[in-house]
Amino acid sequence: AHQPVGGAVDAPPTVIPLASPTPVLAVDALCKRFGPDLEVLSAVTLSVSRGESVAVIGANGSGKSTLLRCCVRLIEPSAGRVRILDTDVTAARRRVLRRVRQRVGFVFQRHNLVPRLSVLSNVIHGAMGRTGALAWHQGAASPAMRGEAMHCLERVGLAELARRRADQLSGGQSQRVAIARALMQRPEVVLADEPVASLDPSAGAEVMDLFARLMRDEAVTVVFTTHNLEHARQHAGRVVALRGGRVSFDLETARVPFDALGDLYAR
Ligand code: ADP
Ligand code: MG
Repeated sequence: AHQPVGGAVDAPPTVIPLASPTPVLAVDALCKRFGPDLEVLSAVTLSVSRGESVAVIGANGSGKSTLLRCCVRLIEPSAGRVRILDTDVTAARRRVLRRVRQRVGFVFQRHNLVPRLSVLSNVIHGAMGRTGALAWHQGAASPAMRGEAMHCLERVGLAELARRRADQLSGGQSQRVAIARALMQRPEVVLADEPVASLDPSAGAEVMDLFARLMRDEAVTVVFTTHNLEHARQHAGRVVALRGGRVSFDLETARVPFDALGDLYAR
């Protein structure tokens, strides 16, 4: 008996899936109660595939921030399950949780930069997770890491402010630095909680545009919350609407009846 050269003629054809079958983020019947009487999230279920950009809309107090925070257990859920990538977040012990958080970029409503450090140091800080920490101060970072951080700053248009202290930036500049820091982390998923809500409308639109474009360029999976329906319409492929802690709809953006929503989700 002899084998054909290469041995592969009888092998079944390789099937390369177009999209990963397992969601990047899967939230299943998530509940959050604060005390016995206040249920802020009631059985929230949603699933986000690789490369998607999903907007979570909802009026003030509808549970948007609580939902994002529960996803990485910055707030402990009361019940339900969250999976991120291949990890059951809700069951994870501290060490596993830390590892999964390193793969998730978080952009907050207020940038939470380290105020007394330089802009460049703040961006370098974004790499701490993936490098196993310690690159905290500019001085401790390798030239390659500094170069990469400068490149991230260039991408948000702030290279010339690299040496400035973070507490001397405007709101819009701060959110750009927070975005550069998230890029530096090279996350697979970004959770952004009203990333431009602290900015005036025109700066907000500009930074939201930049954020969405950069994430798309990196093919990062994004979930962002907003009470700005226009931002959802422009930058999300899918919209999940929360009302009183429940999902009231979950639709492709093209199918969302924005004009009929009034300000139910926008206050
Ligand atoms: P959103 O981000 O959509 O404005 P939040 O998730 O911040 O909504 O809040 C949802 C509800 O949960 C609000 O009624 C808020 O007052 C309440 N809430 C949030 N955090 C706490 C907390 N730590 N303790 C008690 N209630 C809270
Ligand atoms: Mg909020």
